[in-house]
Amino acid sequence: MSLRIGVDIGGNDIKFGATNLDGDQVLLPDLVKRPSLAKDGPQQTIVQVLNGVQAVLAQLSAGWADVADIAVTVPCPCTPEGLIIEATNLGTPETKRAWQVPFGEYLAAAGRQASGMEIPVFACNDANAAGQDDDFVRYGLDASRRTSVFITTGTGLGGCIMINGSVHFGVGQAGELGHVKPALPAQYLDRFAADPNPLCGCGGYQCIEARAALKGLIRRVTWAVTDAGVAHIEKDLASRGERLNGQVLASLRALHAESPQRAAYEVRTFADRDQDALSRWLLEDWAIMIGVLFANLAPVVHPDLFIIGGGMTEMSDAGREWFISVVRRVYSEVNAQACFKPEASKEPGSTGCEIVWSVSRDQGWRGAILMGMRARPAGA
Ligand SMILES: [Zn+2]
Repeated sequence: MSLRIGVDIGGNDIKFGATNLDGDQVLLPDLVKRPSLAKDGPQQTIVQVLNGVQAVLAQLSAGWADVADIAVTVPCPCTPEGLIIEATNLGTPETKRAWQVPFGEYLAAAGRQASGMEIPVFACNDANAAGQDDDFVRYGLDASRRTSVFITTGTGLGGCIMINGSVHFGVGQAGELGHVKPALPAQYLDRFAADPNPLCGCGGYQCIEARAALKGLIRRVTWAVTDAGVAHIEKDLASRGERLNGQVLASLRALHAESPQRAAYEVRTFADRDQDALSRWLLEDWAIMIGVLFANLAPVVHPDLFIIGGGMTEMSDAGREWFISVVRRVYSEVNAQACFKPEASKEPGSTGCEIVWSVSRDQGWRGAILMGMRARPAGA
């Protein structure tokens, strides 16, 4: 055995990569990709996964006997054995139930049939894998004393807590940070007055994810393009000396009429490329909620780092600087204790929790391999 295979199952595609046994060397220069058939249910996905694994082996001129294990990430809560607990972002309303299966066991059985060998399968949540990979890019395989909180924003808001280089699970699903429900600070009650009690996909209300992820943004854009929304935002912008751009509003209204989702996607482009005031106001919802989340978590875990990953990392340097400065400002407004100040804690005696961008670049497949290695020590 000489390699490990990592598989990242997403909504659009499935990505495959491979590393050496230590997990610190990438063996394929380019990732193998297959379209995701997750909407059709788990069986079709298993066929796609095996197909991709075979493509990886062919590129490496390797065989099944070289494979130590397969590690898979899924966009939902699951156990390390690959039991899908809730198919949050898998399947369609029709196929969601079909996904609540021991996917890891099915994949191991299919692998056994294809290879005639017993190849262990490890499964994990994609946000955990992203956090694990970020930690690897920062610190390598080092396991010295440190704690970080990692979040990833996009369709949902996922997260994990990393302790000494490993993801902390608790009884199983620790780090589901999108479903933390912190109170809104008084100074932001007015901003959210038209949307005081948002329902989350989990069935609860006021989760961070209900405001700081795509679904929340779609709901907010739908409100922002109404006369009442425009009036509210215009007034708020005026109070800080900014003006709403009528052309951008017209574009957002036209896009929204076509597809609310499309309008929500363009908000980030307008906010970043054009530094548009209205679009930035809308995305500030995310920055504010992330700042509030971090401020509430600081006294619980007192991490060295709060790390932001996911779609927002794709903005320009100026866009990233604007966004993270709002997160830091709100964090400091909510959390006034000096020991939790959002600055580096590299010097001895300093106790702050720095807020930074993720340095991992969509390498969740590698994060899965590294998590699997920690879950199953060498020789086990
Ligand atoms: Zn929730």
